[in-house]
Amino acid sequence: MNTGYMSEETRNDVVVIGGGAAGMMAALFCAREGAKTLLLERNEKLGKKIYITGKGRCNLTNTAEPEQFLREIPHNGRFMLSPLSHLNNEGTIRLFNTLGLATKVERGGRVFPVSDKASDVTKTLHRALDAAGVKILLNSHAEKISRSEDLFTIDTADGKRIFSSALILATGGASYPATGSTGDGYRFAEAMGHRVYAPVPSLVGMNMNSDWHERLQGLTLKNVTITAKTGKKMIYHELGEVLFTHFGISGPLILTLSAHMPDHAEDTSVTLNMKPGMTPEELDKRLIRELTENSRKQLNTILNSFFPQRLAGLFPAICGLNPEMFGGDCTRADRKALLNGMTALPLPITGPRSLDEAIITRGGVDVKSITPGTMMSKQVPGLFFAGELIDVDAHTGGFNLQIAWSTGALAGQSAAAYVKNRR
Ligand SMILES: Cc1cc2nc3c(=O)[nH]c(=O)nc-3n(C[C@H](O)[C@H](O)[C@H](O)COP(=O)(O)OP(=O)(O)OC[C@H]3O[C@@H](n4cnc5c(N)ncnc54)[C@H](O)[C@@H]3O)c2cc1C
Repeated sequence: MNTGYMSEETRNDVVVIGGGAAGMMAALFCAREGAKTLLLERNEKLGKKIYITGKGRCNLTNTAEPEQFLREIPHNGRFMLSPLSHLNNEGTIRLFNTLGLATKVERGGRVFPVSDKASDVTKTLHRALDAAGVKILLNSHAEKISRSEDLFTIDTADGKRIFSSALILATGGASYPATGSTGDGYRFAEAMGHRVYAPVPSLVGMNMNSDWHERLQGLTLKNVTITAKTGKKMIYHELGEVLFTHFGISGPLILTLSAHMPDHAEDTSVTLNMKPGMTPEELDKRLIRELTENSRKQLNTILNSFFPQRLAGLFPAICGLNPEMFGGDCTRADRKALLNGMTALPLPITGPRSLDEAIITRGGVDVKSITPGTMMSKQVPGLFFAGELIDVDAHTGGFNLQIAWSTGALAGQSAAAYVKNRR
C-alpha cells in the first residue's frame, strides 16, 4: 500500500483531493493514463461513506436503460450525458468485474456486490489504485489551495505542502459529515471563483407538524401514492411505500419526494392517497356498506377493515371526527371527511431533515462553470471536479454512485491528458 510521506517540493502531475467514490475512480483513471497521481484523504481509510451505502451492501449502480437513467437524475441530468458516455452503468459493472468484484442485479435494476459487502467495493478500488501506482496519503486534510501560473499548491492541516500541475476536487457534498464530507470543496471552489449553490439535504425524511404522526411511529404503508403540488403545478406523483417516524414521515416515496421539493416549500402541498387502487366512487360505496352493516359499532373498529389497527384507531381523529362515533350516526359530511382523508390526506410537512441525515446533498458547484466533456473548470485551467460536490443529484437506486464513478473517471482521464499536453 502506498501511504508514504511525499517529500516537500515534489511535484505531482495530478493531485486528487478526497478518497471517496469519485476521488478513487478519478485517481485510478488518471494513473492508468500514465500520470503521476497522488490521492489525498483526510480520514484514516479510503471510502468511508461507501461502507454505509445500500445499508452496508453498496448499491453501486443501476442497469436502467440510458433514457430511464437520465430520468432518475432529476437535477441537472443533462450535464451527465458526457460523463455517462465516457463511463456508463454497463462500463462500471464491467470495470468492477474485471477488477475482481463479482456483481449481481436485484429488484429495480439495483446492482450490488455478490458478497453483499460494501467494504468489498472499497477494497477492490484500493487494490486497483495500488496496482496503478497511485500514491495514497491518508490522514491528510487539505486545508488551503493556491494556484500560481501553472502550479497548484495544497497545504494540509498537518503541515505538508504538496504541489501539482493539475488538481481534481472530489471532496463530496455536505451530508453525513461524519464520513469526512464536510463541504470543504465548496469553499475551495468558491475561493477559485466558481458559483456554488447552497447545499440542501436531499433523499431524506421530512419533518411534520401534526399531533398524530408520532403515534404512528414505525408504521409502514405500502401501495400508497404521494402527490406534491406547488400552486397548481404537479411536482411529484408516485406509488410506493411510506413510513411514519417520530419526526414525521420517511420511506422510499418520501426520500424521492425530497429530491423534488423546492428549497422554499411553503407553497407546496403534499397529500397521501392510502387507497389508490379504488376510485373515489368505489371507495365511497364501500364506506356506505361498512357503515350501514356496522351501524352499532364505533368508527375506530369499523375502520379496521380499511387500515392497520393502529391507524384505524387514530384515523377518525385525523379527519376531525370522534373515534367513538357509531357507524349509524355518520352523516354524509362525516363520510366525505373519511373519504377525503383516505384519498387525499394533507401531510403538514415543514421541511426536510438535516444534512446530517441526508443521503445526498443537492446544490454544489454550478454545472455551468464546468466543461461536461472533460470536467475541467471553465475558470481555472487544470482544475477538475468530480462527484457529489457538483450540483447534480439523483434518486436512490445506485444512480448517485454512478454519478461519482462517471464524473470521477472522466475527470481523471482528462486531468492526465491535460498534463500530458502541457509537457
Ligand atoms: C447512508 C447513505 C447511503 C447511501 N447509499 C447509496 C447507495 O446505495 N447507492 C448510491 O448510488 N448512492 C448511495 N449514497 C450516496 C453516495 O454514497 C454518494 O453520492 C457518493 O459517495 C458520493 O461520492 P463522492 O466521492 O463524491 O463523495 P464522498 O463519498 O463523500 O467522498 C468524499 C471524500 O473526500 C474526503 N474529503 C473531504 N474534504 C477533504 C479535504 N479537505 N481533504 C482531504 N479529504 C477530504 C472525505 O473524507 C471523503 O472521503 C448513500 C449515501 C449515504 C449517506
